[in-house]
Amino acid sequence: MPFSELIGQDRAVGSLRSALRRGTVHHAFLFAGPAGVGKGTAARLLAQALNCEGLARGGPPLPDDSCGACAPCRKIAKGVHPDVLLLEEERAMARAGRWEPRGGRAPSKDIVVDQVRDLVDRRLALRRFEGRTRVVIVDPADAMNHQAQNALLKTLEEPPDDTALVLVASAPDALLPTIRSRCLRVPFAPLSDGQVASRLEAEGRSPEKARLAAALAGGSLGRALELDDEALEARRVAVEAAAGLPPGDAGAWIAYARAQGEDREAARETCELLLVWLRDVLVLQAAGARARPALADLAGAARAAAAALSPAEVLRRIGRVRQALAALRQNAGPALALERMLIGWFHG
Ligand SMILES: [Zn+2]
Repeated sequence: MPFSELIGQDRAVGSLRSALRRGTVHHAFLFAGPAGVGKGTAARLLAQALNCEGLARGGPPLPDDSCGACAPCRKIAKGVHPDVLLLEEERAMARAGRWEPRGGRAPSKDIVVDQVRDLVDRRLALRRFEGRTRVVIVDPADAMNHQAQNALLKTLEEPPDDTALVLVASAPDALLPTIRSRCLRVPFAPLSDGQVASRLEAEGRSPEKARLAAALAGGSLGRALELDDEALEARRVAVEAAAGLPPGDAGAWIAYARAQGEDREAARETCELLLVWLRDVLVLQAAGARARPALADLAGAARAAAAALSPAEVLRRIGRVRQALAALRQNAGPALALERMLIGWFHG
């Protein structure tokens, strides 16, 4: 997979490609931006571009990209190239079956200092095996604790020849200022719902399910790809049920809040989807038949609500959903947060 397949990151990719063309690739990058928008993929694609042999094999010249098909490209894509080193949290390594227990302790949720020392003292001290440029990818770099970050400082400042480091972080502020100042920062943008949805459609999702998943994932393609059809359908049904709650029947709201509030993450997703759906209701009220609701699967319920409620009432409900989301972020009980939201809807 070459750079052109990465969606919505034209600025980040553009700056990497021009550095590749000029032959002035920095020795330490910080890829910073929201989770699930392609930072890790871009790090791998940079490693491919720095080691691709597409040109040598008679393919088209690729000064600033990779072919995705030659032996080094395929090894890097599979994570088995000996000169592309990945540093990740012990827990993620354990999940992938790559972690060897040391001293009987459980795998850490961090990238620990031992891992950095092993990289610096042992792996980077070896000669390169077969690649042109050795690439170290630290993903997520913000999982390095301070001790681990300090152990990486000197290498960031003076990396071995023909070695590039890429730190991938969705919370770059968790990195020490001394780490950040030694890296060239490449900002990655959040993806729009439309960009996420079209990628999901390209992966074979129906347009309706793609829009639903994009709405729930809040700009993260990674998260959208994880949502299966069953989870999407459950959230759609939950929004439809909320839309149909009778204003005068408090027993029905409480039952709804209890049922939907059993799982915090599901409650949060239902609220996210309610926001998109209520925006559809507003759009229908403003543009009538010309409106194109974002959630086609819920367009019937949106039309009914657009006819039954005033725009002021819809805005008030949006405000209540936002309050519920804020409460969920602050660890409020999900059933209680939903119950308060519904009281606000019907008794505000
Ligand atoms: Zn290649």
